[in-house]
Amino acid sequence: MSQFADRLRTNLQMVEQRISQACLRAGRPRSDVTLVAVTKYAEWEWIAALVAQGQQHLGENRPQQLAERAPRLTQPVTWHLIGHLQTNKAKLVLPIAPWIHSVDSLKLLTLLDRQASELALRPQLLLEVNVTGEATKYGFTPDELLAGWPTVCACRNVEVAGLMTMAPAAADPETARPAFQSLRTLRDNLKSRSPSTLTLPHLSMGMTGDFEVAIEEGATFVRIGSALFEGLSPHD
Ligand SMILES: *Cc1c(COP(=O)(O)O)cnc(C)c1O
Repeated sequence: MSQFADRLRTNLQMVEQRISQACLRAGRPRSDVTLVAVTKYAEWEWIAALVAQGQQHLGENRPQQLAERAPRLTQPVTWHLIGHLQTNKAKLVLPIAPWIHSVDSLKLLTLLDRQASELALRPQLLLEVNVTGEATKYGFTPDELLAGWPTVCACRNVEVAGLMTMAPAAADPETARPAFQSLRTLRDNLKSRSPSTLTLPHLSMGMTGDFEVAIEEGATFVRIGSALFEGLSPHD
């Protein structure tokens, strides 16, 4: 096996072990949490090796890169779009990514609902929330989402499957905990205002720096890039 594939295997095992231990601490079954391998900075060969090692869920944050990469894999992987989606790229992304974690406006949501119908698709959508109010971030504020909830409930052609957030970058993972707790509380609140068919089972939260805390706070998707590709350089 080539050296980079060895390294990837070790990294993947390490991440897997840390996810399992966090689940154990939280009293949650391991099957509650899906690892989305974020490939935005990865070389093509690394992605292929990761998939060959059994990684099923891949995430890209740029629609264009997603559209270029997805057709090159022959294995049946599941792609997730995790970054900002401009409305004019929605038609590009819908046929490729059954999961979109970054729905950040009602305008985008209603457009996706319409286009999903036209394309006869039923995508799973997560609504991105800017829980900490950082000006540089995409996403609904909690108040915007509460106010717009009737519009969300009226969507017919998409599954609104839950919420997504990015915690502020910080050296100490504990710094992220309040943001994750806020996302879960907001989910519970929105669920109580929804028809029984809208159960919002998913919380997409946690990256390399804070995924264990996110799992303790209820994450069902963790989006991890750096920890998987640690120690690899573009010439490997
Ligand atoms: C890049 C990215 C990640 C992964 O970040 P790492 O710190 O490398 O694990 C997760 N979520 C989003 C939205 C990203 O853009």
